[in-house]
Amino acid sequence: MPDTFHPFDALMDITARPKTVFVRGEGSYLWDDTGRRYLDFVQGWAVNCLGHSPPAVAEAIAAQAKCLLTPSPAFYNEPSLKLANALVENSCFDQVFFANSGAEANEGAIKLARKYGTKYKNGAFEIITFEGGFHGRTLATMSASGKKAFEPLFEPKVPGFRKAQLNDIASVEELISSNTVAVMLEPIQGEAGVWPATDQFLKELRTLTSEHGMLLIVDEIQTGMGRTGKLFHYEHAGIAPDIMTLGKGIGGGVPLAALLATEHAACFDHGDQGGTFNGNPLMCAAGLAVLEQVGKPEFLKSVADAGLFLESELQRLSARHGLGEVRGRGLLLALDLKLPIGAAIVAQAFSKGLLINSPQPDALRFMPALNASRAEIAEMIEGLDAILTQVGAARRVA
Ligand code: PLP
Repeated sequence: MPDTFHPFDALMDITARPKTVFVRGEGSYLWDDTGRRYLDFVQGWAVNCLGHSPPAVAEAIAAQAKCLLTPSPAFYNEPSLKLANALVENSCFDQVFFANSGAEANEGAIKLARKYGTKYKNGAFEIITFEGGFHGRTLATMSASGKKAFEPLFEPKVPGFRKAQLNDIASVEELISSNTVAVMLEPIQGEAGVWPATDQFLKELRTLTSEHGMLLIVDEIQTGMGRTGKLFHYEHAGIAPDIMTLGKGIGGGVPLAALLATEHAACFDHGDQGGTFNGNPLMCAAGLAVLEQVGKPEFLKSVADAGLFLESELQRLSARHGLGEVRGRGLLLALDLKLPIGAAIVAQAFSKGLLINSPQPDALRFMPALNASRAEIAEMIEGLDAILTQVGAARRVA
């Protein structure tokens, strides 16, 4: 082994990471290998909806692990049947295909839409997506995304995605042709900096897609599983999409994702879709434990209330420090910084034991555990207040 051996070097260097190793998590807190505690308002990027290592999920996984890990996707297993039925009962969809990541669920949605086009729309295959949208890191989902930084990468992209402007129905109408089979969007563009589609725009999209016999696909990988105060964000707009994808929160911290479709849209034939680990009982047992908690009306109400509290506290901070608007819904919120100081604030916060995220240089994003307490929200606000004071003082000196 060379003298310069460093334990981090065996992992591909795919992003800038602090050289800190996390060893334990509980609720809203994480601990590193030196015993240092961090208040976590990132939660694995909106993944740990019940916080770190929630007992209900840990116990469900342990019990399932002793019982059955994977019988093969060619056979049924109990947890996947139970979870699929629970998702169907709690949504406007009729059928579920489980996947292992959000990108894989979105690949499935894209394939399903193309299949629908082949079967029912004379081979229509184009999907209208949105500038600023993010749907994952496989080749097709990068192609579907409207993230500027993706544009020069991995050419040639998968063809068949045309980009409209969020909240501009005319820009969608302009792109419709006989080749168009679907419109796909995140109800809140998370990675772009938490930019919500308005409820009115979602309604207009539903009307427009129905008029043209097109499918409406909602990517609820970030907004789903209670994050916005309803189990699924589309409920806010009172619409029923044809296809929805879930990821992140659905597994409460383990790799689980899902593609849901109404009966008329669920048109795969045998051989079109599959995957070795898809719907494995271990992950589905975790998903069931999550849904059991998150699906309760009183839990969803508590998320909405906590979201309003966090929003008002962020607005107070914004006024105090001369910052911009607070955007988003429930516990998916962004604070507009008006200046490209997000990375500096995130680094300062990290050094003080507070984990927050800056998806864009001028925005901070907050994705706490859905059961974060008022005291934890107040602790985060207090920490951020001190950091903003320091950053403001440094800017005045500079
Ligand atoms: N879609 C949305 C809206 C997302 O936020 C993400 C991840 O950030 C994805 C898709 C991709 O999910 P995954 O990273 O699990 O592949």
